[in-house]
Amino acid sequence: MSTSMIEITGVTKSFGAFPVLKGITANVNKGEVVCLIGPSGSGKSTILRCINGLESYDGGAITIDGVRVDRSQPSITGIRTAMAMVFQRFNLFPHRTALENVVEGPIFVKKEPAAQAMARGRELLGRVGLGDKVDAYPGQLSGGQMQRVAIARALCMQPKAILFDEPTSALDPELVGEVLSVMKSLAEDGMTMLVVTHEMGFASEVADRVLFLDGGVIVEQGPARDVLGAPSHPRTQDFLRRVL
Ligand code: ADP
Ligand code: MG
Repeated sequence: MSTSMIEITGVTKSFGAFPVLKGITANVNKGEVVCLIGPSGSGKSTILRCINGLESYDGGAITIDGVRVDRSQPSITGIRTAMAMVFQRFNLFPHRTALENVVEGPIFVKKEPAAQAMARGRELLGRVGLGDKVDAYPGQLSGGQMQRVAIARALCMQPKAILFDEPTSALDPELVGEVLSVMKSLAEDGMTMLVVTHEMGFASEVADRVLFLDGGVIVEQGPARDVLGAPSHPRTQDFLRRVL
């Protein structure tokens, strides 16, 4: 039995003639929280999109719990539902309530009985601190509350891992903490998470490992205390000087 949930081996990808990923090798073990950091344009979102099959890659391999991510194979549907994603912009349906947004995937994609999905959806909204907002529409919620609905929606798919793409970057500063604390509690519960973030406090406190990506290459990776506390590569040092 493999302990690896997400395994990325020598992955390359170009947009036209422009190489974006230049041979990425990394893994996320079951129950592990890995933070992916790096400058804008370094390829962070592209990696996440390749992992859940939103984007194809050119060379190398990605496997999820031992199953290869291949957009030309029927197995891609299972991979998409196994890898939940939380985006910078919450992508909630504006004309559906919080609960309706949360149960959309389980009912319409996974064909789960509605009553069962709704019961779990209510429970998950409670878990992210929104037990009193199940019937609220996105327009009635703050950005932090909308992002917590998006996290409940991801959890309701009962994913093998959750990919977060800068989940707090679009939030007003005073709303960042409530989202990070929900993410921290998921980490404590053993959820496998790959998190693109600029929140170095979160990364140093919660991440088991940190990957620093620059120019389509993983320049440095290791425990948060090493990569963030004592980076060995000049590019990591320079990046951290600018973001901290
Ligand atoms: P990051 O998330 O680290 O900011 P991205 O993965 O979004 O970086 O983008 C990496 C590079 O790929 C950037 O130079 C970006 O402009 C380019 N890129 C991303 N998506 C596309 C696309 N669909 N078509 C062409 N270029 C793209
Ligand atoms: Mg990005």
